[in-house]
Amino acid sequence: MQVVATDCRDYDRKLVLNTVRDALTSLQVEQLVARGDSVLLKPNLLSPHQPEAGITTHPIVVEAVITYFQELEVEVKVGESSGGMMVNQSLTEQAFQKTGVLAVCQKLGVEVINFDRASTKIVSNDRYDFPLPEVLLEADLVVSLPKLKTHSLTLFTGAIKNLYGCIPGMKKVGYHRSCPHPADFSELIVDIFELVKPDLAVMDGIVGLEGNGPGSTGDACQIGVLLASQDLVALDAVAASYLGYTQNQVPITRIAAKRDLGSNQLQQIEIIGGYQPAQQGYRLPSNALLSLLPNWLLQPLFGSLLSQPVINHQECIKCQRCVQSCPQDVIVDRQGLEIEEKGCIKCLCCQELCPQEAITVKEHLLVKLIRSIKGFLR
Ligand code: SF4
Ligand code: SF4
Repeated sequence: MQVVATDCRDYDRKLVLNTVRDALTSLQVEQLVARGDSVLLKPNLLSPHQPEAGITTHPIVVEAVITYFQELEVEVKVGESSGGMMVNQSLTEQAFQKTGVLAVCQKLGVEVINFDRASTKIVSNDRYDFPLPEVLLEADLVVSLPKLKTHSLTLFTGAIKNLYGCIPGMKKVGYHRSCPHPADFSELIVDIFELVKPDLAVMDGIVGLEGNGPGSTGDACQIGVLLASQDLVALDAVAASYLGYTQNQVPITRIAAKRDLGSNQLQQIEIIGGYQPAQQGYRLPSNALLSLLPNWLLQPLFGSLLSQPVINHQECIKCQRCVQSCPQDVIVDRQGLEIEEKGCIKCLCCQELCPQEAITVKEHLLVKLIRSIKGFLR
């Protein structure tokens, strides 16, 4: 299976358009669609952030992919459900606006679909019933447009994890609640991937996110790559290797490969496009250090070793976004918001969604110790 990884150092409109066009032409994507087909693009608009934050798919990349498909005379739509919801208020609308993707869609005459409010159909496997937007299920071609980022819970978020945003609004919170362990949550993400099964992914790795992603406690970093593939597992495996993950370290790609949904074995993937990483790996999330512990120690202690979110009262504006998005209802007001450690599953949804960067993560002492011994993180 081929993954195109092309050097692309900035968001110059012409450069990105040419890079996307060359990548998709080399994958013969034009043969996947016929004139008049419907194409649904799913960017990663996790929460309302400016493009420069490195958290959301850059509007120039979204614009380039729309333009490529419009040249093929197909009908393009862009759909997303962001990471949380306030009572009677969809964060997705704010995210479309603040990330600049709404403006691009308006300019190019493309319909924007807020999955929080779209009609859905239940699609089931033997474990779950998922409400998925009908527009997504009915599209002739589905394209995942992820951002290349670290993720504190699943270690990496790319083309496959991006599909969690196909689940509307607060329904995502319920799945987090039913899968508190990262391994189970990763299985659930792969369940969604198996049901949606996009035909293609184009990843924005021009500026990515390192450290404790996927939200504002990660740090934007220049990676300088644009990736594309029809094998989303292979694409994610290649992108994760650029961040510094070893082949089987990322649970989602490992599980997806085990289910024969693609390959995560780098030696089996043909990487074309000529990209050479400018540096050897990036700063991984604190929780990535846990994979260095032996299983006999890790298994019984796992939950308590994960990084714990903490609210900084000086920064908190009591907007209630974290309270309403917490799957465990453990954020309580006691003369200022506090997180009850008992019951917190450390999913870090609260931290992802905080508009003030008022939620930081506290590393367990053992993790700090490993970090100092191994010098693993910069
Ligand atoms: S911690 Fe952040 S999300 Fe939670 S109430 Fe305060 S500002 Fe809002
Ligand atoms: S407090 Fe934050 S990390 Fe803990 S369960 Fe709630 S949303 Fe998840």
